Amino acid sequence: MPEACIFCRIASGELPVALIAENDHGVVFRDLHPQAPAHLLVIPRRHVASLAEATDGAELGALLLLAADAARAVGLADRGYRVVANTGADGGQTVHHLHFHILGGRAMHWPPG
Ligand code: 5GP
Ligand code: ZN
Repeated sequence: MPEACIFCRIASGELPVALIAENDHGVVFRDLHPQAPAHLLVIPRRHVASLAEATDGAELGALLLLAADAARAVGLADRGYRVVANTGADGGQTVHHLHFHILGGRAMHWPPG
């Protein structure tokens, strides 16, 4: 795990955050700078730099199921929500540890910026 990776430090428990949900493969917590009334991040426990570097389908599947569990846990399931994986420079990725954003609590627009 890269020393400086903030999400590795969160996943390992070194930086304490309130977890919304977790399973064997990942953890879910609230984004520090929410872009919607509900804004959660789903991250794998182990360091994977981005979706482009992901190779483990079981891990990715478990993370998406975890995203659905977390959305349900915070009451987003009925009205819906958006799941986003910003990937690489053009994708707007700023933290280089794979994460899925869950955004909800308001209507999302399309196309995104
Ligand atoms: P990206 O821009 O890479 O798709 O998303 C990174 C997200 O991580 C941003 O929405 C940012 O607000 C969030 N973030 C960055 N550092 C921290 C942190 O230390 N704690 C939490 N909870 N969120 C963070
Ligand atoms: Zn990491």
